[in-house]
Amino acid sequence: MRKLLITGGAGFIGSHVVRRFVKQYPNDQIFNLDKLTYAGNLENLKDIDQSGNYHFIKGDITDTAFIQNLFETHQFDGVIHLAAESHVDRSISNPMEFVLTNVIGTVNLLEAAKKAWGSNIEGKRFYHISTDEVYGALGETGFFTETTPYDPHSPYSASKAAADHMARAYFKSVAVPVITTHCSNNYGPFQFPEKLIPLMIRKASRGEELPVYGDGGNVRDWIHVSDHCSALCAALFKGVPGSNYLIGGRCAKSNLEVVHEIIDIVKEMVPSPSRAVNRELVRFVEDRPGHDRRYEVDPTRIEKELGWRAKTSFREGLRDTVQWYFDHEEWIRGIEHKSYLGQRLGLRGILE
Ligand code: NAD
Repeated sequence: MRKLLITGGAGFIGSHVVRRFVKQYPNDQIFNLDKLTYAGNLENLKDIDQSGNYHFIKGDITDTAFIQNLFETHQFDGVIHLAAESHVDRSISNPMEFVLTNVIGTVNLLEAAKKAWGSNIEGKRFYHISTDEVYGALGETGFFTETTPYDPHSPYSASKAAADHMARAYFKSVAVPVITTHCSNNYGPFQFPEKLIPLMIRKASRGEELPVYGDGGNVRDWIHVSDHCSALCAALFKGVPGSNYLIGGRCAKSNLEVVHEIIDIVKEMVPSPSRAVNRELVRFVEDRPGHDRRYEVDPTRIEKELGWRAKTSFREGLRDTVQWYFDHEEWIRGIEHKSYLGQRLGLRGILE
């Protein structure tokens, strides 16, 4: 029996990771530590929260004494660290939250793991979930690889980069068995509706205008969250401590292409909507400050060394995602009621 601590398990990716571990490893004890910020939602885990091997702990990773105490009490065998402030627009408005959670919070966890494990690191893992955004932006050609120099451009990516450096330093200096992965843009069920795909699904399904930043030409590599989860398992169980792996779906698309695909799918799924759904709903709006033009990751290393490959085609994954949001209108309404109504964030460095 292993005891695994998953941080940020009530968020988008974290809830998929928690569900997978609770179901797939019934002999493991899964502890989900989450502060339940605006992005954390226990509704995401309703289907598994009565499982005997699942434990929810409400807490803040920036609270040093609490984290030390948690590790002393539970003697975790592994940590999968996803808790973060994760939205670039919000980081432009409120960078300090990002420094506190993403940097200080990560160091608190690393320090607690170091003290709990000491030199007894056989079978232990500290899995730090990072992002491809730490590498900055690409021009028209090329890919990010594991050796691309760091060049973060937003307070979000800068805070993730700082956390990555601390994680690497804990591996090099005191042998905490750290594995780091950098994944590209995820999409799928339970994503908070401030992010591009759920925001556009929500607006398109209501026949509202679809605000696209700049000229819509910013390119991202898209991966379905279930493929990120399978990559995460491969990295956790087969990855070499001290290594980093890039995870991507080999699916680069401009924001405008993504929005057009969403419109087409919504149109097909709602044959006679109350308001017309077509590409004329797209409205180009003032760009995000410092908006990176293109990200694309080369996942060759994880494919070759760990035998993982993304399986979900974008069209199929997007169709399922649109269907999921259609079927979970109540989930969206719960968020609208609590914290977010689809408004623009982070335009001029203040919360609009
Ligand atoms: P999310 O914003 O949906 O979820 C973050 C979770 O962390 C929430 O449940 C929130 O309550 C929790 N949290 C925030 N601050 C906390 C704190 N101080 N203490 C404890 N819990 C706290 O994020 P996500 O999109 O699921 O991303 C998860 C991780 O994956 C992040 O580390 C992010 O940087 C990384 N990542 C995300 C993507 C993506 O496309 N979403 C891509 C690559 C990497």
